[in-house]
Amino acid sequence: MLDQTSAIVEHRLALRTALGEDMVLTDAAEILRYCRDWHGDVTTGAVAVIRPRSTADVAAAVRLCHQMRLAIVPQGGNTGLVLGAIPDQPDAQVVLSLERMNAIRRIDADDFSAVVEAGCILSELKDAIANKGMFFPLALGAQGSCRIGGNVSTNAGGINVLRYGMTRELVLGLEVVLPDGTVFDGLTTLRKDNRGIDLKQLFIGAEGTLGIITAVSVKLTPYPDHVATALLGLASLEDAITLFRRARRDCCDLMSAFEFMPPLAFTLAREAMPDLPIPIPAHYPAYVLMEISGSGLVDIDDLMQRFLEAVMTDGLVVDGTIAASQAQARNLWLIREGMNEGQAKRGSHMRSDVSVPLSRLADFVAEAEAAIAAALPDCTSISYGHVGDGNVHLNVLPPDDMTGDERAEVIYASKNVLNEVVDRFSGSISAEHGIGRLKRSDFEDRLPDTRRALLMAVKRAIDPDLVMNPGCQLSFPQIS
Ligand SMILES: Cc1cc2nc3c(=O)[nH]c(=O)nc-3n(C[C@H](O)[C@H](O)[C@H](O)COP(=O)(O)OP(=O)(O)OC[C@H]3O[C@@H](n4cnc5c(N)ncnc54)[C@H](O)[C@@H]3O)c2cc1C
Repeated sequence: MLDQTSAIVEHRLALRTALGEDMVLTDAAEILRYCRDWHGDVTTGAVAVIRPRSTADVAAAVRLCHQMRLAIVPQGGNTGLVLGAIPDQPDAQVVLSLERMNAIRRIDADDFSAVVEAGCILSELKDAIANKGMFFPLALGAQGSCRIGGNVSTNAGGINVLRYGMTRELVLGLEVVLPDGTVFDGLTTLRKDNRGIDLKQLFIGAEGTLGIITAVSVKLTPYPDHVATALLGLASLEDAITLFRRARRDCCDLMSAFEFMPPLAFTLAREAMPDLPIPIPAHYPAYVLMEISGSGLVDIDDLMQRFLEAVMTDGLVVDGTIAASQAQARNLWLIREGMNEGQAKRGSHMRSDVSVPLSRLADFVAEAEAAIAAALPDCTSISYGHVGDGNVHLNVLPPDDMTGDERAEVIYASKNVLNEVVDRFSGSISAEHGIGRLKRSDFEDRLPDTRRALLMAVKRAIDPDLVMNPGCQLSFPQIS
């Protein structure tokens, strides 16, 4: 019987021999970045990192791993925030990185569609599409690093969801390597296709637990040439929600982003970017970063101007500024991005990604922040995000001088307090980021029996030997 170390050495040799030295990384220094999460909070290891260049390579690697009883953790840009893309059993799992499958196979402006390999970086795909006068609306802070296969596998959201929907609504077709190495070719660009159950939906949001997405066909829209961006000061989150409802009606559904921020956002943004211009006073209780956009004959600037005049006359918006140039608009968005960086600079903290019905959002935030203040009076809560979707990031920052162990306790305690409030409001503990390994037990604790049975049945039907990303989303016995 081989001991653990010699088994790993044998596995590495077998992988390199069968797949070639070029495709398989085993050196500890080389594989480190694939085994560390985006925040750097968790570092694990892997038997190897496999980096295929084609769908045939992926299929060969999956067949081999299946034979060798090695589990596979698929990885795109590794920007996921729930530990779904890094192994939790370093001696028994390989990472399969899609980073070398990044070709854009086709952009078809006449068909309003594109076909792209799973490893293409989101911003590179968006830029290539923009060069053809078209637009791919998925937009998130990690777009310079995340990859389209990862976006599909997490059903990513972002700032444009309120107008264009989550990733699921942007996907027309998928090519997937299944856990036994066969290829599911569903790479259609048809808009309407009602031939039975839409199988691609199973893989969207599956976080790599059912197969490896190797290519994606996506919907495009005309490029929005005209964009108006405004930063607005308001009296409360409730007013922000009223403003959102009004903007949806009055701006002909041309609103493409509506982000809520508290005044603390400016302090945090300045901590990360000290020279960042803040163009309105930072003392209002609530802020909204709003964007409307369109193409062709529509006069977006006039629409924004008239809308703001009306809501300021009514007193719903107290103060505001409209970006006069693309550079000014970019600076407004930097406040939103800098706020995230500022939180990271304050050390490890509790990050959440929850949603509740829009009509209950303001009460939810008030109740959740009060519950956290009562349980952890030394901590600071900050709530912001895509409020138009009922999605808020309610994060909890421990005091600066708190040590690592104490921080871990605060993170755990505040997450539990928050989740209890989410449950009372019939909300979701994961609105965007998925379950991964980080939220698995909180997810499983809340799973109704019928849903659990259906999820297990789907997993066992497609991946009976539990090869694909075991430990992610649901706990199953490990591969043996
Ligand atoms: C600064 C920042 C901002 C963010 N903002 C948002 C936001 O606004 N909205 C949002 O939804 N998310 C956001 N995220 C989270 C993250 O960027 C998204 O979840 C993104 O979709 C992950 O893509 P990725 O390529 O990095 O995937 P990875 O992190 O590599 O993987 C994520 C999951 O998908 C699986 N996977 C990856 N590729 C494949 C594939 N080809 N086939 C099968 N499974 C695969 C992995 O196994 C893992 O379970 C943000 C993250 C950061 C760091």
